[in-house]
Amino acid sequence: MQLLSDRILNMATSATLAMAAKARELRGEGKDIIGLSLGEPDFNTPDFIKEAAIKAINDDYNSYTPVDGYVELKEAIITKFKRDNNLTYTLPQIVVSTGAKQCLANVAAVMLNAGDEVLLPCPYWVSYSDIVKLNDGVPVEVKTSIDTDFKMTAAQLEAAITPKTKMIWFSSPCNPSGSIYSEAELRALADVLVKHPNIYVVSDEIYEHINYVGNHASMAQFEDMYDQTITVNGVSKAFAMTGWRVGYIGAPEKIARACNKMQGQITSGTNCIAQRAVITALNESPSRVQYMINEFKVRRDLILGLLNDIEGFKTNTPEGAFYVFPNVTHFFGKTLRGKTINNATDFSLYLLEEALVATVTGEAFGNPDCIRISYAASQEQIIDAIKRIKETVS
Ligand code: PMP
Ligand code: GLU
Repeated sequence: MQLLSDRILNMATSATLAMAAKARELRGEGKDIIGLSLGEPDFNTPDFIKEAAIKAINDDYNSYTPVDGYVELKEAIITKFKRDNNLTYTLPQIVVSTGAKQCLANVAAVMLNAGDEVLLPCPYWVSYSDIVKLNDGVPVEVKTSIDTDFKMTAAQLEAAITPKTKMIWFSSPCNPSGSIYSEAELRALADVLVKHPNIYVVSDEIYEHINYVGNHASMAQFEDMYDQTITVNGVSKAFAMTGWRVGYIGAPEKIARACNKMQGQITSGTNCIAQRAVITALNESPSRVQYMINEFKVRRDLILGLLNDIEGFKTNTPEGAFYVFPNVTHFFGKTLRGKTINNATDFSLYLLEEALVATVTGEAFGNPDCIRISYAASQEQIIDAIKRIKETVS
């Protein structure tokens, strides 16, 4: 009998984490790798949040928490949803989980049956397709291109819907394209979806605050979409808290209760100290973390300027998150330093080996023409990395 399940054997390794691990390994061998692969703020968690965690330890928060999170945290999330997104949720509609990643895994596990189709506008975040597949769902890619700023149109959505469509998952601001759906663009998608009340939307808003154009729009803000939407968010990105592992959903009550039940058998409530710290984080004004967003914007402009100076990198202008997603098809079929580049994966590996710069292939995000470069790195690192890339491709 085979040792491992088909489930795990059929699952791809997370390309973002795999590239980060490879970069770490090469660094361990003494190579001077610049890591632009992982989507992780290079800031420390702000002091006011750290202090709340230290206080929680000293106040003896050390027991199991309610599976779906402390009531005070759920109340802080309700306040945040109202304050930042004008969304009204009640306590039983909120579930706190071990990162937004677990929120997504819960939702897939409690909503998908074998053969249910999940629309994934491309490019999509790397883990969506494997989380869907793990739960016997069928990811259905909806291709977009740089010409529409990698956004799906209402017509494309309409054309992709079949009787088997159960859900659509997308992030805005988008990882990896940095694109943001405006309120009008979301409304156009909503106009299609309201005609299909059995299709549910996972609106992944984890980059909500990392927005350089203002005005974040949420799918659930439309009254006629509220009951069809699961709003996913978390503190990893805007609060520089990736390792604390706290994410949350606001969802129709039946779905939230099901996630709570699922989590109760798998992980229980997330870490008690992290939850206490997040109460403080969410009760503060988002302006407390604006300094990080300002710096990300400077870096975005810096990296775009540098990339546009290299022949063969075609970029959109990301409006949020901290990634650029250049189209690099110019290099396909070329031989550089004796290495033939056939696709984005070859190109990303070439950059790792020759420029010592870690990026991620677009294939992992459902777009084989691009690579993803994270600019959650210092300006010096960005300048150095793009200089190295330029030297190895020119
Ligand atoms: N969604 C998107 C779009 C992401 O980029 C990430 C990055 N980690 C996540 C969800 C998961 O975030 P976390 O589990 O750290 O809250
Ligand atoms: N979301 C980040 C990224 O896309 C973190 C890595 C991960 O969770 O996969 O790089």
